[in-house]
Amino acid sequence: KHRVFSGIQPSGNLTLGNYLGAVKRFVEMQDSGIETIYCVVDLHAITVWQDPEKLRHATRELAAAYIACGLDPTRSILFNQSQVSAHAELGWLFNCVARLGWMNRMTQFKDKAGKNAEKASLGLYAYPSLMAADILTYQATHVPVGEDQKQHVELARDIAGKFNHDYGTEYFPLPEPIIEGAATRVMSLRDGTKKMSKSDPSDLSRINLTDDADTIAKKIKKAKTDPEPLPDSVDGLDGRPEAKNLVSIYAALSGKSKADVIAEFAGQQFGAFKPALADLAVAELSPITARMSDLMADPAEIDRILGDGADRAAALAEPVLAGAKDVMGFVRSR
Ligand code: ATP
Ligand code: MG
Repeated sequence: KHRVFSGIQPSGNLTLGNYLGAVKRFVEMQDSGIETIYCVVDLHAITVWQDPEKLRHATRELAAAYIACGLDPTRSILFNQSQVSAHAELGWLFNCVARLGWMNRMTQFKDKAGKNAEKASLGLYAYPSLMAADILTYQATHVPVGEDQKQHVELARDIAGKFNHDYGTEYFPLPEPIIEGAATRVMSLRDGTKKMSKSDPSDLSRINLTDDADTIAKKIKKAKTDPEPLPDSVDGLDGRPEAKNLVSIYAALSGKSKADVIAEFAGQQFGAFKPALADLAVAELSPITARMSDLMADPAEIDRILGDGADRAAALAEPVLAGAKDVMGFVRSR
């Protein structure tokens, strides 16, 4: 039986990268007839310190963004992770299955911890183990993610496989990453070699779902490019990461292939291309921004939706956790 799980951290404003690489595809999968579970992974967000008031706001805003992008909380399960304790509990069990050597190969930890890894939290290091628990506490089979999360989903497969092997069972399915779509890795507008991220200190590096039309136009205008005009073939984008990124974003937003976008703008300067890209981004995002702000006017309703989702999620997660405990030999007398 197929089941989809994915999550997003309430660690800041949702970006165009999150939208194209994740949420837009979550919504498509909801309409495919498969059971879909989508989470606001607040326990992951605190692997880096979060101001409590901002965390509360970002959690509600992310829930609003999911809904504004088309996620239907009656057809999908939508909830925040900290309200379902099975995640943290199975995460601990998996900490005892995962190997230090596996964690040491995770590139996201290296990127996020930076040069002074001694100062990083233990939680940031264990993050992929908790992510494995997020997925496997629903025995999810498919995990739609952006390119950057491929390594973590593969680690979840390794953890599931080792658990099954160590306990002589086939209890956990091996989850598959689904990395599809025209923009699985949207890059920073300031540096075409870095991923666009909601936690990037530079607001100019990304387009936020909460940005208004003027801000979007300004950010795209300021986006880094090289001085050459657009090439006349897709191959001509090689070695030009910023140009490639903007063309990819245009393609993803317009539903056209990169070749068609190049055919349309070949030989033109970025001064002509950028306003067209800004118009496209505003047309796609402004209805979402408007819907988000309507939803945010009623935080109690958002909390109600998250609570209802958490009840439904817990009903699925708790028996799976209990089963894992039985497999491992814990006494359960109630
Ligand atoms: P943070 O900087 O706090 O890690 P983030 O922008 O990387 O934030 P996450 O919450 O870590 O967002 O990831 C949520 C989902 O969005 C994941 O599936 C991830 O792969 C996807 N994603 C994140 N950034 C991009 C991007 N630049 N392009 C495409 N997908 C992305
Ligand atoms: Mg991330």
